[in-house]
Amino acid sequence: MSQIELHGITKRFGDHRAVDRIDLAIARGGMTVFVGPSGCGKTTLLRLIAGLEDPDEGRLLIDDEDMTGTAPAQRGLAMVFQSYALYPHMTVRANIGFALKLAGMARPEIDARVERVAAMLHLTPYLDRRPAALSGGQRQRVAIGRAVVREPRAFLFDEPLSNLDAALRGRMRVELRRLQQELGTTAIYVTHDQAEAMTMADRIVVFRDGRIEQAGRPLELYHRPANRFVAGFIGSPAMNFLAGPRAATFGAAEIAIRPEDLTVAAEGWSGTVTVVEHLGAESYVHLVLEDGAPLVLRSRPGEEPANGAKLRVAPVAAKVHRFGSDGLALG
Ligand code: ATP
Repeated sequence: MSQIELHGITKRFGDHRAVDRIDLAIARGGMTVFVGPSGCGKTTLLRLIAGLEDPDEGRLLIDDEDMTGTAPAQRGLAMVFQSYALYPHMTVRANIGFALKLAGMARPEIDARVERVAAMLHLTPYLDRRPAALSGGQRQRVAIGRAVVREPRAFLFDEPLSNLDAALRGRMRVELRRLQQELGTTAIYVTHDQAEAMTMADRIVVFRDGRIEQAGRPLELYHRPANRFVAGFIGSPAMNFLAGPRAATFGAAEIAIRPEDLTVAAEGWSGTVTVVEHLGAESYVHLVLEDGAPLVLRSRPGEEPANGAKLRVAPVAAKVHRFGSDGLALG
């Protein structure tokens, strides 16, 4: 069922392996999100799939066909960039239809396809405007429209929403997800934002230093991180990590606990409240434990302890994540 397969893909820049022997199968029809900190190689891997870079080693298959070294235009993929890359002198209609025109499609069919895609993306009223007369969100929809109209085998999204403000980004995430599901087209989406990855993905691939740390469904990564890195990367606010005697009680070198899995208890670790964050629907209480270790716990609004209060907290035992000294999760 996998549509795009990577076998031992490696890309070096000088001595640095930006992408390091990646094996990955990307399923047909789903949204796969590549996520990881800046410099982890996710954009380079997307560009390798697009054919904008050539690998030093490894093979790339699309629909079982070896596409390593095939020119980008022959791969049947459509990429959407963060910068939109619209033609400023062309109308929205011409921008969306441009690739079809280049491919020699007849005018009536181009018009029909452009109008269908414009309707899907709520761009119909703007078809005769130029990009300069559009908002950021509208421009991004035009960029997406240009990819959709080609009916590609897969979409490759490179941080397409990062130039938008937070509210618009939130709306566009949902819209883009709906559109991808409606079309049923395979998509790969690159972001450094774990929240974006969690909301958009059927499957998340977490990268670090050119390698895959873990791949799985969003809630799988959230509830069963394979290692310390994924545990710390997925989820906001981040997991609480504790080492030393507190971890040793659980038979681990280090333990990690999500803020929602800590409760105020009669028996537990004692700490002092330093900051209370009121977010409306929930609150986050920041503590320091006796030995200076910081801890964040989630609280229901109206039930937060006061700043400076001394209290005891305990983890829900079943929700404690245990890691060995190598950083890997213990069974
Ligand atoms: P970001 O989120 O910051 O875009 P990324 O995870 O997408 O990061 P890449 O852009 O893939 O990371 O870069 C991976 C590594 O390869 C980085 O160390 C980067 O500096 C390096 N790199 C990327 N492109 C080139 C290039 N053309 N020449 C030299 N080094 C490069």
